[in-house]
Amino acid sequence: MKTTYFSALELVAAAELIKHGELAAFPTETVYGLGADALNAIAVQKIFEAKGRPADNPLIVHVADVSQLALVARSIPVIAEKLMARFWPGPLTVVLPKRQEVSSFVTAGLDTVAVRFPSHPIAIELIRLAGTPLAAPSANRSGSPSATTWQAVADDLDGRIAGIIKGEPTSFGLESTVVDATCDPPRVLRPGGVTFEELKEVCDAIQPFSSGLFDQHTEGVNSPGLKYKHYQPRAKVVVFAAGSLESELQRAFDRLNQVHYIGVNLPANPLRFGSVMACCDVDEYATKLFDTFRKADTAGAKWVYCEAVAEVGIGVALMDRLRRASQ
Ligand code: AMP
Ligand code: MG
Repeated sequence: MKTTYFSALELVAAAELIKHGELAAFPTETVYGLGADALNAIAVQKIFEAKGRPADNPLIVHVADVSQLALVARSIPVIAEKLMARFWPGPLTVVLPKRQEVSSFVTAGLDTVAVRFPSHPIAIELIRLAGTPLAAPSANRSGSPSATTWQAVADDLDGRIAGIIKGEPTSFGLESTVVDATCDPPRVLRPGGVTFEELKEVCDAIQPFSSGLFDQHTEGVNSPGLKYKHYQPRAKVVVFAAGSLESELQRAFDRLNQVHYIGVNLPANPLRFGSVMACCDVDEYATKLFDTFRKADTAGAKWVYCEAVAEVGIGVALMDRLRRASQ
């Protein structure tokens, strides 16, 4: 399949692809999404083929305004309304009771559907022009680091999807926070762009994300995607506690040129590394993480050393991705 590339001024043409049941990748504020008409089961199946995504990993449905919710959700719990009023448009995905019209391919057979209203102007305009909610996972091959640039989408999916919109690199860089609003109290299923501290301001009873709940051996996993390998570059990811870098590096010391580094502190001898990404804060670290993984692979690095951060605010989502990448 020949992939067509669109500028931000050619969204009408990209939306035509979606209307014809094809896939188009588009920027959001979190990561690039791979969109299909959520109400077209055949189009949705193409997402799983293009990504090599396991069929039991459900997709997030993206809407361009709250009125489109009625197309996919059967009902909206009061707490979901409060969360949407506060965080939409933005990096919050809310799990709701599903309408029958939503293909079971979207929801992997679950009776619930995950919905998000992104804040990125290109995403919003594309959904509006397509005239339908878009089922959209991250636009990368399954298991790989999520795509935060259109070039990363092209590296993974050129020739496998009909279109790619060439937007800017994404501003947040990690995926959305997923909250299950079908249970009382609601529960964080995946940490992401909206922090637990922010969610607590709206719903004091909300249950925090717990990684132990979702390991491979847990019965009745309620967010199936969490059991899969995720975010992994070919280089080995090593997460080290701040301050412990020198002892961590003993193993690789004679091959530091094959080590790429990312953290908020500069390592002692930065010039010996293949590449050093010293971020000014945890926000920038989150934004640059997946791109750092991809650049390490392009350069043929053997390791990516990642400095651990405190698990508060965005640090919770960042540490979750680092753990999964290093598993
Ligand atoms: P991705 O599209 O790769 O960002 O992953 C979507 C995430 O949303 C996965 O972790 C899924 O398990 C989760 N998800 C999607 N739909 C549902 C749902 N109906 N219930 C619970 N989690 C969901
Ligand atoms: Mg993904």
